[in-house]
Amino acid sequence: MGAIITTAIFVFLAAGGCGFAAGEDPVGAAGAGQDASNTTPPDAGEPSLSQKESGEKIDIKISATGEDEKMIRDALDLLKQMNGEHATNGYDEKWRDTKLNVSKVMNKLHEQGCDEIGMDQCGPGETACVNPQNPSKVRITPEVRKLPPTMRSMVMGHECNHTGKGRPNYMHAMCPEGHEYAGKPACDTDAHGSYASMTTTFGNVAKFCTTCTGLVTGDARKIRDSQMKRLLGEAKEKVSSDVGQ
Ligand SMILES: [Zn+2]
Repeated sequence: MGAIITTAIFVFLAAGGCGFAAGEDPVGAAGAGQDASNTTPPDAGEPSLSQKESGEKIDIKISATGEDEKMIRDALDLLKQMNGEHATNGYDEKWRDTKLNVSKVMNKLHEQGCDEIGMDQCGPGETACVNPQNPSKVRITPEVRKLPPTMRSMVMGHECNHTGKGRPNYMHAMCPEGHEYAGKPACDTDAHGSYASMTTTFGNVAKFCTTCTGLVTGDARKIRDSQMKRLLGEAKEKVSSDVGQ
């Protein structure tokens, strides 16, 4: 790929705002924000992968090798372990499921066009992204390694929500003046946007997961609280009344 084309794509991504930049996210890379100090560090140990997996198989193709493949697989495996007997009305409305089952969420996103997750390039500062030239692939960068396991899993869901041909890809809205991320495309006004969708999903994990470790439930709560701040207008009203504390 030529440098000019690459630059053009990155500019588009930055303008479109579908990339996930952990550096700008309080739940992102450790030390990046005030919430990060309360978040489980990346080297705190893998979540219990020996835990019984009660979710269904996630069919999304992984295009990576070695340690990268393992990292992505572990992130998807962790999503499979997020299950419970209940879910909020907003979760049911979004994912058509009355029980928490995050592997079903991922398979629904797969049906909508999230065909592949692999290592690839993104724009400057972005941890992961979807390139409009290939909207069925989630691109993960090595920056994802800096995130704690639950956050890595959330990034997979966030980016998958941006994938798919011939459907809305939920580009983010510009955050308003006075907002922590003012002037950056790091907010959602649509309740189906990636921040809104993951706030709904991880809010339900925090409330209802019966198969999660305490570590995962705690990180899910931090994801809900931090990403709720990125929701505006209708998205905020809807998601906050559904999974707010
Ligand atoms: Zn995004």
